[in-house]
Amino acid sequence: MKRPEEIVVVSGKGGTGKTSVSAALLYLLADRALGADCDVDASNFPILFKPERFWEEPFFGMEAASVDTETCTGCGRCAEVCRFGAVQMEHESAHIDTASCEGCGYCARICPAQAISLSPLRTGTVKISALRTGNTMIHGDLEIGGENSGKLVARIRQLAMEKARQEGYPLIITDGAPGIGCPVVSSLSGAFFALMVTEPTRSGIHDLERLARTIEGFGIPAGIVINKADLHDENSAAIEALAADLGLPVLARLPFSPSVPGAMKALRTVAEGDNPELTNLLRDLTATLLDRLSLEPRKETP
Ligand code: SF4
Ligand code: SF4
Repeated sequence: MKRPEEIVVVSGKGGTGKTSVSAALLYLLADRALGADCDVDASNFPILFKPERFWEEPFFGMEAASVDTETCTGCGRCAEVCRFGAVQMEHESAHIDTASCEGCGYCARICPAQAISLSPLRTGTVKISALRTGNTMIHGDLEIGGENSGKLVARIRQLAMEKARQEGYPLIITDGAPGIGCPVVSSLSGAFFALMVTEPTRSGIHDLERLARTIEGFGIPAGIVINKADLHDENSAAIEALAADLGLPVLARLPFSPSVPGAMKALRTVAEGDNPELTNLLRDLTATLLDRLSLEPRKETP
């Protein structure tokens, strides 16, 4: 089977409608797309698609130190060198606060009794779920204070690719991490197409340009969706001009719609809201994307 294609929906900043657009695409393409929710700090696909989880695995994001109190002599060297204040001396033995430990391993290297070891720390969960739309989604949670969301994003995308191959999905719709930091880089590497969602504000334009430069570095084909395009004609025109400068197509201009909060409140995607014009524009966007990808509906695998 051909390698599944992946459309990653990204935005240079939060609040541009990235998740609204990606969830609408996943809804409209439910006959051929598996979903991957990589916005792990504010995961919204599970809210909109009522997932029934059928599998999960622990996610180990980083290492943390631990002390064998039987071997520890209580010399206190580890507490002296730890720059993160993660070591406390109690009852003549060292104890590590894993929430403060950064896993640098310095304490383990200098411990004269070799009483300290590092081991992976569980900081989240990766899940495979069945959606109300009949397709499959890979998603994940970070525990409170859990770090390394870039690594969690990479694991979600890896599983999404494996599952799409196994279940015969030709397409993956990924709700990418927001911003332009490590998690969004993890969301983009190896993707087939990057769909950038922006809004006609000064910060939207600025962040779009930074994001476009990042995507350019990956050599991934990309297109732009201007969300709430009718709210500021001048800034929308500036985005069109920027897109032309960058050589990127504007694939959709979505209007501001009061139906969006209503759809969200009803735990539905915006494609299911009561604004037929918006739904039709989103359908046009899926048609445009499918034209580029030439994908057939999913074929059930035996
Ligand atoms: S450096 Fe090693 S022996 Fe000394 S207090 Fe720390 S764990 Fe114990
Ligand atoms: S691994 Fe680094 S951060 Fe963690 S306790 Fe040891 S010295 Fe401190």
